[in-house]
Amino acid sequence: MNDSTVAKKQLVALKRKLDGAIESRSSLEDDFNLHSNLLIQFISKLSLISKGIDLELDNRLAQLRTLFTKSAPISDIQEKILIISKLLQQHSLTNEKNISHMHEQFNQAGESLQKINGLPSNLRRDLRALLTETKDSKDALIQYVPLLSQLLSFYDHALKAKSSTPVQGLLQPKKIIDTPNKSSNDHDSTTFDASILEKISVSLSSLPLSKGHTNELLAIKKKLMADQSSDEVLHHLIDIFDVIVADFKDEKSSAEHFLTNLSATLTTVQSAVKETIASQKSSQLTNDKINLKLQGQLTDMTGSVEKALSLNQVKEDINEKLQCIASTLEQKSKFEQQNHQQLANKLNEMSTKVEQLEQQSKVFEEKLAEQQKKSMQDALTKLANRAAFDDFFAKAMVRFHHKPFELALAVIDIDDFKKINDTYGHTAGDKTLQVIANSIVKNVSKDVFVGRYGGEEFVLIYSKTQVETLTDELNNLNKYVARLPFKFKSNKVSITLSIGATHIKSDDNIHIAFERADQAMYKAKKQGKNQVIYTK
Ligand code: GH3
Ligand code: MG
Ligand code: MG
Repeated sequence: MNDSTVAKKQLVALKRKLDGAIESRSSLEDDFNLHSNLLIQFISKLSLISKGIDLELDNRLAQLRTLFTKSAPISDIQEKILIISKLLQQHSLTNEKNISHMHEQFNQAGESLQKINGLPSNLRRDLRALLTETKDSKDALIQYVPLLSQLLSFYDHALKAKSSTPVQGLLQPKKIIDTPNKSSNDHDSTTFDASILEKISVSLSSLPLSKGHTNELLAIKKKLMADQSSDEVLHHLIDIFDVIVADFKDEKSSAEHFLTNLSATLTTVQSAVKETIASQKSSQLTNDKINLKLQGQLTDMTGSVEKALSLNQVKEDINEKLQCIASTLEQKSKFEQQNHQQLANKLNEMSTKVEQLEQQSKVFEEKLAEQQKKSMQDALTKLANRAAFDDFFAKAMVRFHHKPFELALAVIDIDDFKKINDTYGHTAGDKTLQVIANSIVKNVSKDVFVGRYGGEEFVLIYSKTQVETLTDELNNLNKYVARLPFKFKSNKVSITLSIGATHIKSDDNIHIAFERADQAMYKAKKQGKNQVIYTK
């Protein structure tokens, strides 16, 4: 074999090796591309998952992705990976803190819920189970998501259970109105039972407060009837309590003022009397002394006469003694005058004080009488109220049973009054009540007792009226009211009454008699309203 043949062979072998090397490099490159694609995909997924958790981590991962895509030198990639791994380490620490915080919060919320009274027993049991399950901390925040959702649903149940349980006293949300956009446990959506508000309103009307406070009360009452959501009602009720308390305070301080004055005046009068007695005593003493002196002077004079030897001496002596007596008498008269003056002054002083006291008592008496009147008067219509009616009717019944007379009772109820309130508002309703009250008073005889029984019901008590006169008068009243031109929001509205009446019989008591008149009124309603029904 010559040299050139050997060289050729070596060349061929070298070429094969080169080809092999190229092939394996290209397969290595393919491998690298495949792996780096996989890595890019992995990093993309990692970026997606961790997106938003940490802005820096987001950026670094994006940079790493670019380095891979650009097939950057491995040293650059290594550097980036080092930074990212540090960031991940930090993040894991924060994550641990967050988990422990979440764990604590979760358990606190659960325990607070457990402390609420009146939870349904099944809810309490489920809550206990949930809290036992979450006693140990979880590994990841994500694990708290289903547990939180469960706890939230327990809170929801608890709120619903609470809002359907009656609250103590008057403040009972009657029902929860469900609207599509409002959650059912929204506080504002609870409304108060209109009948409770009605009762409150009627009670307020009979409160005997001062004029200023009554006006304030009426204004709040108006608001109370207009806003029926629980929050607003609560605020109005608090305002009402404030007004009542203020009135009581005024009343108390006015009574205290009166009593303080009374006590001061009595003290002055008492000390004046004492002084008078003392000065009387001392003047008595002075008087006695003067009298003794006079007596002495008279005895002296008699002695002088007896002892006198001559008429002249008697004359002189008597003259002298008489002068002494005259001066003593003058002294006595002066003293008595002085005494009189002092006494008159004291009496004057006392009578002025007593006069002042009388005036104060009068004011107080008037106030009491006014209060007494108010406690029997309906604030809105100024008619007699239910208490006054009960009192008047009971007394009339006693007189009737003692000696029967034509005692009759009529019950009046406004027809479809609720519609007025609902359509034109509570203020329009209140005005209507006032107009109807005045119309009743205007249309019945002077001696008829007219009262507001409550709500939109009135009562009349006739004392000496026979059936015909009674029904005539009631029918006239009915027609009068039906013709009244009411106008609300520029709508002409006619308002009618249903009236039931009866005469009291010998075997009636208050309740039977009232029931009969009331039934007659209901009969009038059933027969089409706007009419008077008399029943025997
Ligand atoms: P009917 O013809 O059957 O008597 O129907 P009505 O609507 O008159 O009777 P209902 O008993 O249903 O309603 C009475 C209404 O009277 C309900 C209540 O809101 C209203 N009301 C009661 N007291 C007052 C008040 O002081 N002021 C106002 N504005 N309304 C009152
Ligand atoms: Mg009624
Ligand atoms: Mg009515």
